[in-house]
Amino acid sequence: MTICFFGCDYKYETEAVMKLFFPLTLFEFSYEEEAEGDRVVVRSDEGRLSVSVYTDGKTEISEGTHEKAEAEGFTDEQALCRMLYRILEGMTGVSPKWGCLTGIRPVKKVNALAAEGKSKEEIFAELNRRYYTSEEKLELAYATAITQDKALKRLSDNSYSLYISIPFCPTRCAYCSFVSHSIQSSGAKLIPGYTEKLCEEIALTAEMAEKKGLVLDTIYIGGGTPTAISAENIEKIMKKVSECFDISSAAEYTVEAGRADTITEEKLRVIKEYGASRISVNPQSMVDSVLEAAGRRHTAAQVEECFNMARRLGFDNINMDVIAGLPTDTEEGFAYTIDKLIGLDPEDITVHTLTVKRSADLFARSDEVKKSISPSEVDRMVSYSCRRLMESGYMPYYLYRQKNTVGNLENVGYAKKGHESLYNIYIMEEAQTILAAGASGSTKLVNRATGKINRHINYKYPYEYISRFDMMIDKKNTFMNENT
Ligand code: SF4
Repeated sequence: MTICFFGCDYKYETEAVMKLFFPLTLFEFSYEEEAEGDRVVVRSDEGRLSVSVYTDGKTEISEGTHEKAEAEGFTDEQALCRMLYRILEGMTGVSPKWGCLTGIRPVKKVNALAAEGKSKEEIFAELNRRYYTSEEKLELAYATAITQDKALKRLSDNSYSLYISIPFCPTRCAYCSFVSHSIQSSGAKLIPGYTEKLCEEIALTAEMAEKKGLVLDTIYIGGGTPTAISAENIEKIMKKVSECFDISSAAEYTVEAGRADTITEEKLRVIKEYGASRISVNPQSMVDSVLEAAGRRHTAAQVEECFNMARRLGFDNINMDVIAGLPTDTEEGFAYTIDKLIGLDPEDITVHTLTVKRSADLFARSDEVKKSISPSEVDRMVSYSCRRLMESGYMPYYLYRQKNTVGNLENVGYAKKGHESLYNIYIMEEAQTILAAGASGSTKLVNRATGKINRHINYKYPYEYISRFDMMIDKKNTFMNENT
């Protein structure tokens, strides 16, 4: 299908609305020229706005004006996207539960309206008016805002989180879109050099933080799969963190252990010895055939063994990630996964919805994914997890959305009271400065007074991180000196 623009170029938002109804579809775009065949025509012409949709021999047209849009508090772009949304809703019979709210952080919208003194009812009415968001999702966003309120209120202006990236994995999962190197291919030989440079950057980051008068609040070692590297290299990195930072002042220290095929007792002992208070053991599914179809080289039994081993070693704050919508999964299979995890009783369960990005192996199998599982099934899986987790004492505490997510659904972190991960809340709400070390690490300086965020991103791939390290550090130093 082609999207044609006349008198405007609202490609990004228009495409986002189209993807709500036609997931995993690639669109073509034309400007000032109408294509033939199935198409959408978006016009902004001297104050007159219109959207026409031609598909399957049917035509629907919606018209408005700039004055009307402005009077209702919408830009022309928003008004046109709303028209398109309404037409597609009617033509397809699909009503996305988030409506035409396509942004990443819906809870930010709830928090912003609450900060204006609006009541729950007023917040719901406004978000429903602007985005047609359903009551179910508004309740979820509102519950999340309530749970994270305490964590946001404890923030001070000069606190920061430290993020350390270990971008290696044993093999690549089919749905993965991260910059993660498979150890089985070229990754293994890069690990020693990477560890060395990472330790250097950790030390330099501590100096940068001190120079800026920042106070460490949380630490997160993520990936990739941090436990994909050896216990010896994990120890080098965590030892460097202990030497360079006062970890006793950190309110939270997470190591995302990740895949069960990488977790060993030796690695968990190192993680514990160097002060991590929270780990992740991520099953994604507790159904072996689903794990196999997703390219995960471990079984559900291995996940359970790792979880029990971590408990034996004294980890009392464990997160487990699952994904709704994995190929070959079913509603029953997903419900089994959720129930199984509730039975294991971790402190934190994160429910993601499958997102298929272009860089994932699964993208080439989009048709297979579409046939394997429908958005409405995934919707029921996500609703089931929300209901079951909340009735089992887990409350939503952070929530975000991504483009190209099946059913346009969300990712939600649920935790038992008092176990909400501060780092996850702060990164999702962009509420705190993050200093990042490692390949693709994204440093964000958040000015809480103005809301301005300045960003610096390290080189993406381990080989360029190693080979261009000095140049990268020079740039990071300049960034830190020039921004607040
Ligand atoms: S474990 Fe995570 S980062 Fe690693 S390949 Fe799988 S999805 Fe990607």
